[in-house]
Amino acid sequence: MHLSEEQFETLLEAMDAAQGDGQAGFVADGGSEHLAGCARCQGRLAAMQATRLRLRAALGAPVSVARGRRGGRIVIRFHSDDELEGIVERLRG
Ligand SMILES: [Zn+2]
Repeated sequence: MHLSEEQFETLLEAMDAAQGDGQAGFVADGGSEHLAGCARCQGRLAAMQATRLRLRAALGAPVSVARGRRGGRIVIRFHSDDELEGIVERLRG
């Protein structure tokens, strides 16, 4: 079975934590084994990571993209009011 959105999210968070040093992280319930042999899930993961990195570069803040059944949501993280203000300014252009 292909990875769930939750499993992708777990992997992407692990990749963030490892800061791209090649550690893909571990997915429970056979997810890691599936990913190792599934080109579709590998491609999906790479595409999701690319989207996150593009958003991060544009906004200057960690971003996660959570997909739902239809569409999804973008979560932008900040650690202080100053960071939040900086993000708002970037969004305003
Ligand atoms: Zn798969």
